[in-house]
Amino acid sequence: AEELIAKNEKLSVVGQLAAGVAHEIRNPLTSLKGFVKLIQENKGDNDFYLGIMDKELERINIIVNELLLIAKPQKEAFTKNNIVSLVRSVIDLMISEAKMSGVKIEVDAANDLPLIDCEAYHLKQVFINIIKNAIEASNEGDLIKVKIIQNEGNICVNVIDEGCGIEKERLQRIGEPFFTMKEKGTGLGMTVSYKIIQNHNGSLHIDSELGSGTTVSVHLPIENKQK
Ligand code: ADP
Ligand code: MG
Repeated sequence: AEELIAKNEKLSVVGQLAAGVAHEIRNPLTSLKGFVKLIQENKGDNDFYLGIMDKELERINIIVNELLLIAKPQKEAFTKNNIVSLVRSVIDLMISEAKMSGVKIEVDAANDLPLIDCEAYHLKQVFINIIKNAIEASNEGDLIKVKIIQNEGNICVNVIDEGCGIEKERLQRIGEPFFTMKEKGTGLGMTVSYKIIQNHNGSLHIDSELGSGTTVSVHLPIENKQK
């Protein structure tokens, strides 16, 4: 009987995920279909329509890529990487977005941190997601601090923002597929991040206070065996 319950639970998770995917992809598809019709009728500004269609296609692309990151049976190929350089390279990618929002990002890293076993591309995705969320939650003039320390056999990366924060009841829903509070959010960024950190045998915690900010802490083992 227990097995049956476990199986039914799994199926309902699959059902929820399928419904979420269908819903998220149907909206841009419906809009694409509408614009194809408008272009066929050739009555409006086709370049304008194509611009919107390009954005809708990009949105489907983002959703599908994030789903693939979640779905792939991940055999992580771990190599030794410098976590500080990895985080800095992510910040370099995000700096224009931060500037546009009037947000500063500061790195505070301990000296002589050891290299860690990780899959650099996936780990970058995690920090892109976390830092992007921190920027999106911040107000103009806010500071985002990224603190990197060693704690025995682990490296801890803390991303601390002074942004809007999130209330307790919603905090536990972060990471649920498609849970978003943003108008244009996919609600997949943290789902992907939890999954990648889990594949690294690490952990991810979120601490937040509504109105005063959020801290996302990622703990990663320094040594990791190939799965
Ligand atoms: P998305 O960013 O597309 O909404 P995510 O999975 O990245 O999806 O995040 C889910 C939700 O978690 C966000 O919509 C937001 O409400 C909340 N969240 C995540 N990070 C933060 C943060 N640093 N500050 C406040 N809320 C956050
Ligand atoms: Mg996000």
